[in-house]
Amino acid sequence: MLTQFNSKTSRLKVKISQLRGGVSSELDKVCAESVQDLMATIAKLDSNGVQVVAEAPAATGAAPSPAPHVHSSTDPGGKPQPDPNEDWCAVCMDGGELMCCDKCPKVFHQYCHIPTIEKLPDETETWQCLLCVNFAELPMSPDGEGGEDGAGGLSARAQKLVERVTLELYCQYELSLPFREPVPADNLQYHSKISRPMCLDMIRMKLQPRSAARYTNVAQFVADCRLLFRNAYRYNPPDTQIYKDAKRLEEFFDAQLVKWLPEYAYWGGEGEPPTKRARVE
Ligand SMILES: [Zn+2]
Ligand SMILES: [Zn+2]
Repeated sequence: MLTQFNSKTSRLKVKISQLRGGVSSELDKVCAESVQDLMATIAKLDSNGVQVVAEAPAATGAAPSPAPHVHSSTDPGGKPQPDPNEDWCAVCMDGGELMCCDKCPKVFHQYCHIPTIEKLPDETETWQCLLCVNFAELPMSPDGEGGEDGAGGLSARAQKLVERVTLELYCQYELSLPFREPVPADNLQYHSKISRPMCLDMIRMKLQPRSAARYTNVAQFVADCRLLFRNAYRYNPPDTQIYKDAKRLEEFFDAQLVKWLPEYAYWGGEGEPPTKRARVE
């Protein structure tokens, strides 16, 4: 059954949009924001991007149909309300079952958001994506900026910050696309030249607190990101698109560091991490 979650009492919004590869077979398992929204999305796709507005029954030459409009319990009262959220996952740009952020228009698959949304929030809860989290409300790490929690992991705040920066990189969809997946092992030419491959999916994996290879401080995270960019510059000639994309993504990365982890901005990822330097409190 499709359930409407867009009522005044239920705040959690999960929407379904059509998968680019075909219609989701999960329809009966998941909750749609509204059937109308789904139909509109399909209509939009069918019409090659031309927005199709639900129309009134076509005039047939006969008198207008006397059948009254039947209001259902999910009918917001006449016109469909404009959907404030986007139709495609901000990370993979595909459709399907998507979590709608209550604060911004972005939507995410549970497995695309960072961190992964393990469990759907209760339907009475609101949900905001990590891009909307107010970091001013998160407690400061007791040890400052190194980010260690003293038990071999990142402090809660540092974990959120590096997740945030990573999610920001993924949300640069076009730019990040070439740097998401590992270069296949059978690309011998690549691997003969690049001895330490790095990609966003590996970084993302190392963000998982349960990963054996998890980051234990922020410097390791920044170093992996720099390694990713250095590999791109090393393998690709400067006039290639992928080289230019890497440059733009790294500039974006530095802008994120300036915002969230300023002491790491422009640190090359090699040698002594900035936190070890003397710091004026
Ligand atoms: Zn996705
Ligand atoms: Zn958001």
